[in-house]
Amino acid sequence: MTMKTFIAATILLAAPALAQPADRMATAAKLRDTALASNPAWPLLVDLTDSVGPRMAGTEAEARGRVWAKAAMQKLGLVNIREEAFPITLWQRGTESARVIGTNHPLVITALGNSGATPAAGITAPVACFDTLGALRAAPDTAVKGRIVFIDHRMTVTQDGSSYGVNGGVRRSGPAIAAQKGAAAVMIRSLGTDFHRNPHTGGTVFPAGTTPIAAVALALPDAELIGRLCKRGPVEVNLVSTPTSQPGQSANVSGEIPGSVPGEIVVMGGHLDSWDIGQGVFDDGAGVAITLAAAATIKASGQPPRRTIRVVLWGSEEIGLVGARAYAEAHKTENIVLAGESDFGADRVWRVESRVAAAGLPLMAEIAAVLAPLGVQPQPGNASGGGPDVGPLAALGAGVLELGQDGTRYFDLHHTPDDTLDKVDRAQLDQNVAAWTAAIWLAASDDRPLRTK
Ligand code: ZN
Ligand code: ZN
Repeated sequence: MTMKTFIAATILLAAPALAQPADRMATAAKLRDTALASNPAWPLLVDLTDSVGPRMAGTEAEARGRVWAKAAMQKLGLVNIREEAFPITLWQRGTESARVIGTNHPLVITALGNSGATPAAGITAPVACFDTLGALRAAPDTAVKGRIVFIDHRMTVTQDGSSYGVNGGVRRSGPAIAAQKGAAAVMIRSLGTDFHRNPHTGGTVFPAGTTPIAAVALALPDAELIGRLCKRGPVEVNLVSTPTSQPGQSANVSGEIPGSVPGEIVVMGGHLDSWDIGQGVFDDGAGVAITLAAAATIKASGQPPRRTIRVVLWGSEEIGLVGARAYAEAHKTENIVLAGESDFGADRVWRVESRVAAAGLPLMAEIAAVLAPLGVQPQPGNASGGGPDVGPLAALGAGVLELGQDGTRYFDLHHTPDDTLDKVDRAQLDQNVAAWTAAIWLAASDDRPLRTK
């Protein structure tokens, strides 16, 4: 070829003409069906679960998770694989037990992440009972001081998980509010919708200047018991919980399918860390496996995206969203046009939401159209928050894609010993992969603006 045609061909290679929307949608539909028929999410999830196990932030188990993730990315054909470390407070569970004084009732408990410790022999104190977080807020310090605070609430089953948002403050803020009023320790009704004898752990927050106190969640049957005893008269409990906190380190892992036009990045992922009391499957091994499998399907199709697709597996989500904040800070100068996280279990995607620039809304409608045969409905409003780890990127202007999963049974399993592999419905897991594959490929094959600022 002549130099002129060589240059022309090189330019064509560097910036291929954008396929028509109908062609892109046809390709996305094909990728969707390919993923639905066969994808590696299930074997990835089995391997992560069985060979790595639960992955508490900052522990050697989370580090083994990163080794696993990098090897998986390499095997699936992702490139530019990176591990980016950041400091965290390493919180580790100690001994924990509780019993009602004067009866033989043992209470099934789990310490909340970031909570403080009791002495080894525990604390024995009267219980101050509150039906809601608001009632605790309104109480005078004298009603709380020196007592073990019990905070009740009523979480309900919702498909979109909104009851977790409404009641989440009980776990996140309740212990600190009690500590500020001089409480000796805190027990909350687990944020959960099952009535198994399983407590639901999760992180709590003690702001700077508030010394952490022991804080635990009661299994729902035990919270019911305390609630009944509170109505009978004075209740006294012995509570032992001896977690430790020390400086530690976690890291984010990422890998890419490079785009044909460099400079624009579409991020999808999940978080690698999990709680210690289950197997870390629904939260969030599934999100890790789903997004890796979606990337693998796109990679295997041999259709290079226009924008770079980057799978990010965040560390230390459960203990303070530290990885997400560190990631957003470290990548704030990059042009991340869209970000989405799979972090709501392994059940099917039932709706698609976004928060993108107005110019990107037609693309979101095309994504919704390609996902419709999977039983996915568009959620109007363009006001999605995205998954937790996407929040800090969205705050810097990244567009948000949220594939909302059916949360009907999520809070039966969430943060409990029952978060185990046998609970996964493989057909629903595959439907997730199909949805992510088609949505991310469409977004990455496009050029319409998506960033909100
Ligand atoms: Zn999660
Ligand atoms: Zn979680």
